[in-house]
Amino acid sequence: MSVYYVEAYAIVKGLEIAEKYGHKDINIYSDSLSVLLDVKYFNLTKSAHPGIIFEIGEKIRGFKVGSVKISWLPSNKSINMIKKVDGYAKAATRLDEIEKIIMYKKEKLESVQDWIWKIRKEEWEKYCTCKYKEVYTLNRLEFSTKGMSRRQETIINRLRLQQNGLNAGKYKLGLHETGNCDSCGSFQDVKHFLMECKETRDLRKELKTVITNEKDWNIKYITTEKDTTRIVINYIIKKINI
Ligand SMILES: [Zn+2]
Repeated sequence: MSVYYVEAYAIVKGLEIAEKYGHKDINIYSDSLSVLLDVKYFNLTKSAHPGIIFEIGEKIRGFKVGSVKISWLPSNKSINMIKKVDGYAKAATRLDEIEKIIMYKKEKLESVQDWIWKIRKEEWEKYCTCKYKEVYTLNRLEFSTKGMSRRQETIINRLRLQQNGLNAGKYKLGLHETGNCDSCGSFQDVKHFLMECKETRDLRKELKTVITNEKDWNIKYITTEKDTTRIVINYIIKKINI
C-alpha cells in the first residue's frame, strides 16, 4: 500500500469519525501535500489513487459548506502534536485488532497486477535463458505498445521475440536451409536486419536522427524506445512484410 493511499485514508477516517460523532466544524491536518492538492482540485485524472480522492470529496459534500477545513502541516518532529501523532501511529502497530482497510477498485487492480508481476518475475528468474533474455531485461515499465494498432504491435513484438519472417526465424522452423541473408550472406537475425544489413542502410540513417547517444545504439534500445520503434515499424510497413 502506498504512502499516498495511507495519507488519504487517514483523511477519510477523520471525516468518518466527525460524521459519526456529529461534529460540525472540523479541522483535519495532514503533512501530505500531494494528497491535499488532489483533494483541493478534485484531481481524479492525475491522482495516483482517484478512488479515495473521490471518497474524500463525497464525504466533504455531506457536511455544511465551509465547515470542513483540511490543512497542510509540514512534517516537523519538534512540533508536539506531530510527536503525539507519531506515538499513536507506533502504538497502532501493536494493536490486537487489525482494522480492515477499504480498498477501491483501482487499488484492488493494482494489487492484482503486483501479484501477477511477482509470479512473472519468479518464472523469469527460474527458467532457462532464451534469445529474448539475452537482449532484454525484466522491466515493468520499460516497453509499452500503448497507442499502437494491432499491426504495429505485432511487428514490434515479433522483432523483439525473434519470431518473424527473417531467414534466421525461418531456419529455426526448418523453413530455410542456412538462415543467411540473401544479400550479405550473414545470419539474418534481428540484429543483422536492424544494424548490419546493407539492404537496410536507409533505416539506420533514419534511426540515427533520433539516437544521439552512442551507448543507445543497440537492439534493446532500438526495439524499446518510442521514437525508434516508430521508425522501425513504419519502415517495415512501407518496405517489407515480416
Ligand atoms: Zn543482409
